Amino acid sequence: MHELSIAQNLVEIANTAAQRANVQRVTAVRLQLGALAGVVKDSLLFCYDIASAGTLLEGSKLLIEELPVVIYCPQCQQTVALETVQAFCCPVCGTFSNDIRQGRELEILSLEAEEENEHPSHP
Ligand SMILES: [Zn+2]
Repeated sequence: MHELSIAQNLVEIANTAAQRANVQRVTAVRLQLGALAGVVKDSLLFCYDIASAGTLLEGSKLLIEELPVVIYCPQCQQTVALETVQAFCCPVCGTFSNDIRQGRELEILSLEAEEENEHPSHP
């Protein structure tokens, strides 16, 4: 499965970053996912649970921020977000443009880690 290798790769990157930061346990990973990244979100979430097992990320949440495709329209002379990836046409004027400015992202934004509690819970 395509998404499994992507999930394994993401887990590896995040796990290495967590180890470097001396984090004991990661609670969540924030990811930016462009509409053109070629990744099925639900599939990635499913694979993430499998890939994160046995790492510092085990049991953590994968928080996916989905990014729409943004193209530059030469007619309107501005960037516009597409509602669909079926046609690369400006939603305002209908001009075709393959000048893609956003949508291929697949990157980790940040990790959320459990704070190490150094204060005793009992007085
Ligand atoms: Zn336009």
